[in-house]
Amino acid sequence: MKMNRTIAVLAALAASIPAHAAGKINVVGATEDLAAIAKEIGGEQVNVDSIAKGYQDPHFVEPKPSFILKLQKADLLLVVGLQLEIGWLPPLITQSRNAKIQPAGPGYMDMSSVCEILEIPQGPVSRAMGDVHPLGNPHYWLNPDNGRRIAKALADKLSSIQPASATVFAARYADFDKRLSEAEKGWQAKMAPYKGRKVITYHRSWPNFCEKFGLNVVEYVEPKPGIPPTPNHTLDVINLMKREGVKLILVEPYFDLKAPDKIAADTGGQVVVLMPSVGGVKEITTYFQLFDYDINLLVNALSKLK
Ligand SMILES: [Zn+2]
Repeated sequence: MKMNRTIAVLAALAASIPAHAAGKINVVGATEDLAAIAKEIGGEQVNVDSIAKGYQDPHFVEPKPSFILKLQKADLLLVVGLQLEIGWLPPLITQSRNAKIQPAGPGYMDMSSVCEILEIPQGPVSRAMGDVHPLGNPHYWLNPDNGRRIAKALADKLSSIQPASATVFAARYADFDKRLSEAEKGWQAKMAPYKGRKVITYHRSWPNFCEKFGLNVVEYVEPKPGIPPTPNHTLDVINLMKREGVKLILVEPYFDLKAPDKIAADTGGQVVVLMPSVGGVKEITTYFQLFDYDINLLVNALSKLK
């Protein structure tokens, strides 16, 4: 008798809760970029949180106990993959003891599997030199074409978790796709006068971005991804810039400006601190604002160069 009454009370309670409140899907993005796209597609049907902050180097994030709490509640974990998070995320996932988001679980999504990946190494790969991109370039979210692929995969995944909201997710994806296509036209138009312009970047964060927006990356301040600048390599970069008339050095916000500043001083070049992620600065809270910010900064710098 008592059991039946409990079930009846629970059933009445469930019926009184609006479907969308009862069914919110907890999504955690390993980075703020993936979380931002999840908000676009999930809308009211999801709670979205993220782990790495956009102003941090996503290869090297200091693990915190609060990250485990976020992962314990997650229905869906979005990762960049290609070993971007290998230094900090796997132990957190294990410690969360959340079966859904373990790498083989139904709530683990590696977004690299749906995106166009550049710089995939040919032949055997050695970690001896400290290369942090052994499986290809993990900074692929910096091309809106990949943002669109991530959004589509998310719409499909959220629909499989909550079929009753499938039409909502499909509509939100269609809207995102439309707004992104319109924004891309504006970004492309702003960058068009500078097509083919040569630039130096600190880390290999920008191949997808530069391919999309027509910049030509000719060298890096790092001798290899994840390896700090050396005097010899810095000299090589300076000589190359002088030889080829390169003036722009793009630097992520979490790197020391000493080497870039020296290179700029020796070449008459200019350092531009470009944001690789949503949350890099306070005013970048959406995937759209990320490109708005970077393209405005670039156009401003390029328009002042000869
Ligand atoms: Zn990297």
